[in-house]
Amino acid sequence: MESLIDVSRIRVGETINVVFKDLELNIDNLEFTRPIEVSVRLTNTGKCITVKGVISTSVNLTCNRCLEVFEYQIRYEIDVEYYKKKERYITDLELDSEMLNIAYYEDDRIDLMDEVRQCIILALPMKSICKEGCLGLCPHCGRNLNKEGCDCKEKEIDERLAKLGKLLK
Ligand SMILES: [Zn+2]
Ligand SMILES: [Zn+2]
Repeated sequence: MESLIDVSRIRVGETINVVFKDLELNIDNLEFTRPIEVSVRLTNTGKCITVKGVISTSVNLTCNRCLEVFEYQIRYEIDVEYYKKKERYITDLELDSEMLNIAYYEDDRIDLMDEVRQCIILALPMKSICKEGCLGLCPHCGRNLNKEGCDCKEKEIDERLAKLGKLLK
């Protein structure tokens, strides 16, 4: 599982493509269902190495509504500028731009893992929902309403009608 990229071979103005097919990471109990694929283009601008590309993998998540585990596909764009440690040169433009994603490298080697980890965390949904329109669990009997119906709602309405009926008598 080698994720280091030797950048000494990229001359100024040159671009290389790098593909990793089976990276692995440990992220807070996150269960990956396939290896992480990273496909990036590295360009030596003379000032820094820009890394642009796509990270893809899939993970198991638990639906917030129905509590079922489902597979979630991750596809996230990576766009980072790597500066050689201690040789970074800061311009006002960089300081102003919060959009600019900056990282550092040492010994002519870029290790993408930290960035890949961040991208995967950013790619996770705030709320995991297994599918649009997931019906969730019945708050009364706890049945998964995607799988089976229950008559709690009807009962509730019947009870309300019965009460209303009494009031009207
Ligand atoms: Zn669900
Ligand atoms: Zn119910």
